[in-house]
Amino acid sequence: MSKNEQIAEPRVYIVATPIGNKSDISQRALDVLKNVDVIACEDSRTSAKLLDFYGISTKVISYHKFNERQRTQELLDMIEQGLKIALISDAGTPCISDPGRILVDELIKNDVKITSIPGACAIITFLSLIPRSTEEFAFCGFLPRVKTQILQLLDKYKYIDTVFYESPNRLLDSLKIIKEKRGDNAKVAIGRELTKMFEEVKTGTVSEIIEYFENNTLKGEIVGLVYACELDSSSADKSEFDAELKEKINKLKSLNFSDKDISQILSSLYGLNKNKIYKLALSQKI
Ligand code: SAM
Repeated sequence: MSKNEQIAEPRVYIVATPIGNKSDISQRALDVLKNVDVIACEDSRTSAKLLDFYGISTKVISYHKFNERQRTQELLDMIEQGLKIALISDAGTPCISDPGRILVDELIKNDVKITSIPGACAIITFLSLIPRSTEEFAFCGFLPRVKTQILQLLDKYKYIDTVFYESPNRLLDSLKIIKEKRGDNAKVAIGRELTKMFEEVKTGTVSEIIEYFENNTLKGEIVGLVYACELDSSSADKSEFDAELKEKINKLKSLNFSDKDISQILSSLYGLNKNKIYKLALSQKI
């Protein structure tokens, strides 16, 4: 099959690569990487390990956070000349805490057809391995380095499970900030070295997880989750939240929403149990 037959329409392919285990890459991704004219990658030495392993000798150019804007223009020029491009990052899915956003935005603005070749992503791999009671989650990228910013984030995402990337050097400090803000019993989950030889997933109270990582290996790549605060918890501002919730129920009731609709709307908005809201709505009179 010729290059042109194999890669019919899109001009740019956003290609996910493995996050640790070289086998975690699709046949389609390998075909694309073999057949495009240029692969834009974050670090050519890192990508060479994967490309060499699969015998891919396509021309590679750098595309990283320090040359994203300039390279985007150069890639647009190449596309204009009829070349096909694949974008990869060091690991996982480009644009997810990795370069790519600027290119994708410009391609969309310039009406260039793009497609994504899905594959590994640390967030999704992690979420499939831990206990959860709701589908909803917020992803905040890397946790900020500044304590006040982590505290703000914990306020913002108080009622929704929040996934984050973190470096092993900062994990313990960040967990201590979470403990200070949410209390000893706040639930967290940590995934370390997913898909690799020393893959490890730990779920427990923040105190337990701190104690665990103070006494065990804390190296490699980390993804974590802070579970949402429970509406029923005895946290200091529960009554404030209850009052806010009741006010919202009353507002929706005054707009003639049924109790069922109200429970659906508010549960998806706050990631809360639908039945609890339904009961609360039933008990509210306006
Ligand atoms: N684009 C990537 C993705 O799709 O997951 C993420 C890139 S981000 C620059 C790299 C961070 O993702 C790492 O510092 C770590 O927090 C997380 N990560 C990547 N691979 C991982 C793995 N195998 N296990 C746990 N976390 C990982």
